[in-house]
Amino acid sequence: MINTWSELTDIQPLVSRMLQNSISKNRLAHAYLFEGEKATGKKDSASLLARSLFCEHRDESMQPCNECTNCRRIVSGNHPDVHIIEPDGLSIKKEQIQYLQDEFTKKAVESNRKFYVITHAEKMTVQAANSLLKFLEEPLADTVAILITEQPQRILPTILSRCQVITFQPLPTHLVLKKLIDEGADPQSAQIASLLTNSFEEAKQICLDDWFAQAQRKVVKLYEALNQDYLKALIDLQEEWFGFFKDKDQVDRGLDLLLLIYKDLLYIQLDNKDAVVFKSKQSELERYALQSQQRKVAEHMEAILEAKRRLMSNTNPQLVMEQLVLNLQEGSSFV
Ligand SMILES: [Zn+2]
Repeated sequence: MINTWSELTDIQPLVSRMLQNSISKNRLAHAYLFEGEKATGKKDSASLLARSLFCEHRDESMQPCNECTNCRRIVSGNHPDVHIIEPDGLSIKKEQIQYLQDEFTKKAVESNRKFYVITHAEKMTVQAANSLLKFLEEPLADTVAILITEQPQRILPTILSRCQVITFQPLPTHLVLKKLIDEGADPQSAQIASLLTNSFEEAKQICLDDWFAQAQRKVVKLYEALNQDYLKALIDLQEEWFGFFKDKDQVDRGLDLLLLIYKDLLYIQLDNKDAVVFKSKQSELERYALQSQQRKVAEHMEAILEAKRRLMSNTNPQLVMEQLVLNLQEGSSFV
């Protein structure tokens, strides 16, 4: 839930500035399409905008009070002039759009202003979309429509051409991390997941995935074997790695994790210990960091990136991993 424009500015600076400007200059469009990935603040922005428009005590910076009857009714979904349409089952049906139109042609219940939000707008049936189109073509005075979607390419061009499109960007890494921690994710997994993707939903899936928790342990184990000897690492590959990291994508994710371990070594060597992600292994990593030269760590990171490239160009994953183990081993006992 976003309560202030400055909270929105933290995650979507451009969207926040644009909407605030439009309200203060009284130049809101009749229809907007909010598009962008899941969990980027689209629905919260629509709610904030509605509160700014209807609030009884809005201040000069367009900030709603969040306490008056109007603000509270918008948040609880009970404001007579603010409607939200969500898919009924798999689609948004013509009847739902018609109901909205009927409600709106009645005299505005409390003001002349009307506000409606259509979530998952790509799920409108063709009939529903055509019905909405008429509505968009002849907007009632002071009506604001917000269509929300993660798949703008599935919105009919005729609808699209009547909306001002506003793009919501994926969240920055530190905000993905903060949200994951707020939702109770394990801190180490959260930190790693936020480095692997900018999509909050994908990061959340990664954190909940038991495979991912096990993968972290396997990768740490391989790293430890690499520090003991080449043969032990090769045996671990055969006995554990290949049975667990089965396809190309899984091996690739394993390599991402291995890369993060080497980054941790660098962070320790550069005395930036706060940035370490494998916190549960920090003391061992500090010991290894003391034993390795910075140049060597950088070379090893380059070897992992090269393995990722070879994997993507369809070299056999087993071959890629065996070669990598050789490269990561080379010279490491002589540093
Ligand atoms: Zn208010």
